Amino acid sequence: MKEIKLFAPATIANVSCGFDVLGLCLDNVGDEMIIRKTNDKGVKITKISGQNLPLETEKNVAGVAVLALLEKVTIDYGFEIEISKNIKPGSGIGSSAASSAGAVFGVNKLLGEPFSLQELVPFAMEGERLASGTAHADNVAPALLGSFTLIRSYNPLDIVKIDAPKELYATVVHPQIEVKTSDARSVLKQTVSLQQTVTQLGNLGGLISGLYTEDYELIGRSLHDEIVEPYRSILIPEFENAKKAALEAGALGSGISGSGPSIFALSKGKETAEKVGRAMALVYKNIEIDFDVHVSKVNANGIKVL
Ligand code: ADP
Repeated sequence: MKEIKLFAPATIANVSCGFDVLGLCLDNVGDEMIIRKTNDKGVKITKISGQNLPLETEKNVAGVAVLALLEKVTIDYGFEIEISKNIKPGSGIGSSAASSAGAVFGVNKLLGEPFSLQELVPFAMEGERLASGTAHADNVAPALLGSFTLIRSYNPLDIVKIDAPKELYATVVHPQIEVKTSDARSVLKQTVSLQQTVTQLGNLGGLISGLYTEDYELIGRSLHDEIVEPYRSILIPEFENAKKAALEAGALGSGISGSGPSIFALSKGKETAEKVGRAMALVYKNIEIDFDVHVSKVNANGIKVL
């Protein structure tokens, strides 16, 4: 195989009570990438369409992630990458993660799959280090593995894939304002109370149990976050109204996607998820902020070969 074309999905990190440890993979929102073997060694980004992003290998997360992988193999050829970008950078649905994960997935295929999907995660995390300063895995893990992923531990890296109930749909509204990841981090408190910890643990356990047992009501009861959301939501205009609109339209729960500004909701069934999207959209239409709405099934398989 000399060339591969693939779909690199968007992802929702945190998922309310899973701050920094949970993520889920979307099905129909994502970038397309073409990766080719070349005679020249190393990796080149030859084309990016859809967004204005750096082509230099060391400045693009796709390039940095592949360089990390190439350190572990001995080959006398290299790769070039074309990216068709649909996920807006800084939207909070894993734009950088899609490129990092897609790049290492494609290169691994062209190499004859020397690495498992789990083994690709640390390479993709190097792309995240470039994008945000920390090598976090809560977007690249669900992009590579699909479904929900739990980062049980970073050291050693221990990632658990959790299948989603069949009718679980995500709605994402992206109000087009800029929230800097650094600001979204700096508003957080560095200590949490015992009471908040107990509440968060209860909800995280409830959410994971609800996913395994396909208990939609339990999933809904567990989608709360008292640690991060109260502070980060201040950076997102109309957050409380959008969340309220989602819940009134029938969503199981709603919260901030990644570090925002996107807001997600989870629902049982596509029809409800679409209704939730319309209700959240109305909030932003009324105040004339541009927005995108995505409705997607949870993607069980992650990156797809096209
Ligand atoms: P998101 O939360 O949507 O992933 P981030 O803020 O984490 O967005 O990442 C976007 C940052 O990564 C931007 O500074 C962008 O310039 C940089 N970047 C570098 N390469 C890429 C790429 N291939 N795709 C997306 N962002 C990239």
